Amino acid sequence: MNSLGTVLITGGSRGIGAATARLVAAGGYDVCFTYASRHEAAQGVVAEVQALGRQAAALQADAGDTAAADGLLQRIPASLPPLVGLVNNAGITGPLGPFLQASPATMRQVLEVNVLGLMLLTQQVARRWRDEGRGGSIVNVSSIAATLGAPGEYVHYAASKAAVEGFTVGLAKELAGDGIRVNAVSPGTTLTDIHAAAGEPGRPQRVAARIPMRRPGEAHEIAEAIVWLLSQRSSYVTGSVLKVAGGL
Ligand code: NAD
Repeated sequence: MNSLGTVLITGGSRGIGAATARLVAAGGYDVCFTYASRHEAAQGVVAEVQALGRQAAALQADAGDTAAADGLLQRIPASLPPLVGLVNNAGITGPLGPFLQASPATMRQVLEVNVLGLMLLTQQVARRWRDEGRGGSIVNVSSIAATLGAPGEYVHYAASKAAVEGFTVGLAKELAGDGIRVNAVSPGTTLTDIHAAAGEPGRPQRVAARIPMRRPGEAHEIAEAIVWLLSQRSSYVTGSVLKVAGGL
């Protein structure tokens, strides 16, 4: 099958980003993804994409390094077809706990990775598309926390995701005339490593009773929605925030 183009995914070494890399590859796209530090996991995803007959490249890049966003597009191997999609997936929560105990350093890091890094990379990609006279599709990964608030757990993270949703709606309107669509997927509690990083690996099981479907989501269930929004099958959808959250 001919390539449908390259999709750039931030945070593709594991979890929702890795599931998205596999699914876009199965759908006929080549993949370039960033990762923070886990080189071996990233190489594992590269091998999985290649086994599906598609090209893959993994770039170590800190999504919160606002000075690096500029140069990231230059690092995409020239052998890959043109960029047609961007998935802003990389995200962190910081440690679980009441907001009154959250440190300024945690808040700053969460905002830099989840919001500022995302905006700067999006700006680079959208400028390139506009300069080249081509459209594209951007999918931002938000969280159901943006509307639920996550009290007692990570209010600062919820606020960062609310910013992502506001950014999605505004930018979609600003870029619609350029053929660039911007949407967001808002996952509910999903079985990934993010809960261990937040200090509570068992969180999905703890909160399952409050999920109407009575279970956490799987990464591939979130990836399905992301890939639909990336693809031409959603050609008239822009500025949407799609909840994939088991009814939450
Ligand atoms: P995860 O911890 O399994 O994976 C996070 C990915 O982001 C990894 O590939 C990691 O390398 C990357 N990453 C983290 N910090 C980075 C940085 N500074 N620079 C570059 N890459 C970085 O988490 P996940 O659950 O797959 O999370 C993916 C997205 O989904 C995040 O934006 C998260 O907020 C969102 N989300 C997750 C859940 C959930 O319950 N898992 C729920 C709602 C939203």
